Amino acid sequence: MSDASTKRLKIGILEGDDIGHEVVPASVRIARAAAEAAGQEIAWVDVPIGRRALDTHGHTMPEGTLETLSGLDGWILGPIGHREYPKVPEAINPHPILRKHFDLFANVRPTRSFPGIGCLQDDIDLVIVRENNEGFQPDRNVVAGSGEFRPSHDMTISVRVISTAGSTKVARAAFEIARTRDKRLTLVHKNTVYKLGCGMFVDCCYEVAKDFPDVTVDEVIVDTMAMRLVRDPQSFDTIVTTNMFGDILTDEAAGLVGGLGMAPGLCIGRGSVAMAQATHGSAPDIAGKGIANPFAMIESTRMLFDWLGHHHGLERVLELSRHMKRGIDAALAEPATRTPDIRGTGTQEDMVAGIIKRMEAA
Ligand code: ATP
Repeated sequence: MSDASTKRLKIGILEGDDIGHEVVPASVRIARAAAEAAGQEIAWVDVPIGRRALDTHGHTMPEGTLETLSGLDGWILGPIGHREYPKVPEAINPHPILRKHFDLFANVRPTRSFPGIGCLQDDIDLVIVRENNEGFQPDRNVVAGSGEFRPSHDMTISVRVISTAGSTKVARAAFEIARTRDKRLTLVHKNTVYKLGCGMFVDCCYEVAKDFPDVTVDEVIVDTMAMRLVRDPQSFDTIVTTNMFGDILTDEAAGLVGGLGMAPGLCIGRGSVAMAQATHGSAPDIAGKGIANPFAMIESTRMLFDWLGHHHGLERVLELSRHMKRGIDAALAEPATRTPDIRGTGTQEDMVAGIIKRMEAA
């Protein structure tokens, strides 16, 4: 193998909160085993973040975090339970800052059905590409203050930001993904009502479409999409949409295939780093019980390696990703190596050990 196709990767481990302390280490264990099998060197870097970092370093995102991450090829970010943080200035929600700082403008969230795990429908294989850094999200659509404010006690105003730059970037990312799949891209919006905001998003998508004549484009209004996702999810391949619509639709899609434990995600941009981040929150209700489904985080981690492998042309990293996929698919096929939320009889540890065992056997 030539030098150009091998590279020691530096990957950050950011556990986050609650079940993050379980599902992130589980993902790292599996990735380590896959890396060893593929002959891929990885330097793992622990980066404190979240509630534990507040206790140990006095801040949920300690000073120097961004600098540390800048030196990495990518990182695994566990769920952040910021709603339970104490109301002090040092307790901030780090993930919008990470997405913004590294311009991780596209949140790639696949939905796949697996037999026997309680999916509401079979043969689902779609991916929602959600704009990540603007839209209705008040913590990331302004540079100072908040995109939500209350001019009087009886009134709140929420601002939605749609820009040509943000829309064009996420559209291009989605077309690129569609090109590697079934070459079909569905634009989801509501330009019938949001004539300016969604109108601008749709115009940008069609402008980018000119560079992708091989990809077929169609459009679905977001409320119709919410219905069609339940009735005929198999008719969709790649979907691109604005931030909040994407947030809602990806949870809905997760519901079709076994719930939030089955919803992985990867945040990407134009740069050379990416961030694995599952769709689910920190699930404090099941933290510490050993039953949180690690699939979403493990698959997010696999997506990170798959992306790095393609992005940098690293065959061993692609092999690592293939190892992980074989282990994951085999473990999901057996109730004993699945968690209870997906009709399993096993624990989280049974699932993780099962994936590693299946990888070794392969
Ligand atoms: P956030 O607002 O941070 O996204 P949320 O309010 O959507 O969080 P979650 O923490 O994602 O809430 O949890 C929602 C429900 O899904 C909870 O009942 C939780 O136990 C369940 N859940 C979330 N993640 C998993 C998982 N990995 N495995 C099993 N159940 C999960």
